[in-house]
Amino acid sequence: MYDFTYTTHAARVVFGAGSLKLVQNEVDAIGARRALVLCTPEQREQAEVVSALLGPTSAGVFDGAQMHVPVENARRAREHAKAANADCAVAIGGGSTIGLGKAIALESSLPIIAIPTTYAGSEMTPIYGITEGGQKRTGRDARVLPRTVLYDPELTVGLPMSLSYVSGLNAIAHAAEGLYAQDGNPVMALMAEEGIRAMAKGLRGIKKSPRDMKSRSECLYGAWLCGMVLGNVGMAIHHKLCHTLGGTFNLPHAETHAIVLPHALAYNSAAVPDAMAKVARALDAPNGPDGIFELERELGVPSALRDLGLKEAELDRACEVALSNPYWNPRPIEAEPLRALLQRAWEGARPLA
Ligand code: NAD
Repeated sequence: MYDFTYTTHAARVVFGAGSLKLVQNEVDAIGARRALVLCTPEQREQAEVVSALLGPTSAGVFDGAQMHVPVENARRAREHAKAANADCAVAIGGGSTIGLGKAIALESSLPIIAIPTTYAGSEMTPIYGITEGGQKRTGRDARVLPRTVLYDPELTVGLPMSLSYVSGLNAIAHAAEGLYAQDGNPVMALMAEEGIRAMAKGLRGIKKSPRDMKSRSECLYGAWLCGMVLGNVGMAIHHKLCHTLGGTFNLPHAETHAIVLPHALAYNSAAVPDAMAKVARALDAPNGPDGIFELERELGVPSALRDLGLKEAELDRACEVALSNPYWNPRPIEAEPLRALLQRAWEGARPLA
């Protein structure tokens, strides 16, 4: 029986190989005249290409984006945007760069045009995060949702393969948890299942042939769908654990998602058999958690938290932090099974479905 509320966010999406060339049209379409291009130092070259495409509409490049948006970077970026008289920000990069754009928009309402080059999905969400004194503060605000998103699969070619795989699994995690979200709805369930299917197919394709634009397009299409799910419904135990491990132990974002995902799904699998059947169907696997585990093996991504430098002695603390102020989850989050989940993820064991 259906019982849901569905609110959609307005964003324009332009998708296609070579669509970067349309950036000037998209800046014009939102009525902006001075676009500040944001990037990390590593992606300065790509940002310069965007700036050149914008010609006189470019207000220059700010290359200070950093993982988890430190508050001082956000401050510097805001001041830079003001001094450059920018009336729009074009963020080219992954979740860190788009996150910096969001931090500017949160205070100034500057419209953002996002050009994602990873599969993290931040471009489709009104969620922001800013880190101050080692604590990441997150929230939702309609002002930070990018106005336009340009998805160009050609821009993902420079992303190292190992990062492409874990970033794709980060996207799959949004969709998988969206399938059992407390505020889920049938439209998001369709997008989630299709997102998982497309991403898994795309990742296998780029593994076989890294320059195959059809597979790259499939990955980015999957990232869009998974990002939509993340932006529209609440997340559960998996995202809580990754947030804890990233925030408290400074573990890398996408790798942590990849390692924890099969175990978090196994934790919930008996409580949400319909959602798990959809994950399994999307992966063409006998069951969801194992299907993810096998996909990860095939791609050769890290499978154990110990390989990311987490000490076994830190697992009790991770469990404690995750238990404090937990997210809603379809199965109650309890100390003993949660500690066992963390142990298996630390060891890289097969998920217990
Ligand atoms: P990232 O943005 O930190 O990028 C990782 C590195 O890869 C950076 O050095 C970046 O410059 C480089 N890179 C990215 N794309 C590249 C490309 N195509 N070619 C060459 N180099 C490239 O990584 P991420 O995983 O996309 O983002 C992680 C951050 O985003 C985390 O802080 C996470 O919390 C946040 N996030 C936020 C949301 C949200 O909705 N607010 C959603 C997902 C992730």
